[in-house]
Amino acid sequence: MQQTAKLRMTTQRQVILDELKQLKTHPTAGELCQIVRRRLPRISLGTVYRNLDILSRTGVIQKLDVAGLEMRFDGDTSNHYHLRCLGCGKVADVELEPIAGLEATCQKQSDFRVLGHRLEFMGLCPSCQESR
Ligand SMILES: [Zn+2]
Ligand SMILES: [Zn+2]
Repeated sequence: MQQTAKLRMTTQRQVILDELKQLKTHPTAGELCQIVRRRLPRISLGTVYRNLDILSRTGVIQKLDVAGLEMRFDGDTSNHYHLRCLGCGKVADVELEPIAGLEATCQKQSDFRVLGHRLEFMGLCPSCQESR
């Protein structure tokens, strides 16, 4: 995970990272591209996507990758939990203390060396509740 120092920061990559770090909305690559275009009007979705991929592989940002759902990105790499709307796909942070002992228990029960965990809650956001 600690390859951050080796990561070359182009202007485009820096702008993408800056904008993502300011957002709490866990945007898709397309949503982030719209925002980045305010500063770099000619940037392509492919470039945004490629840079997000590199940033997440080097651990600078977090990729929220759930099978069958559009990928979202999070500039906050601290251990925190998410709440996902099953209606519109929106993702919010949950204020919840990381569950202590979970990884140790998991490691004890398997031959794995457990390096981390993810936990996601599912539900309907306020606007999706109204439209049902
Ligand atoms: Zn919703
Ligand atoms: Zn988050």
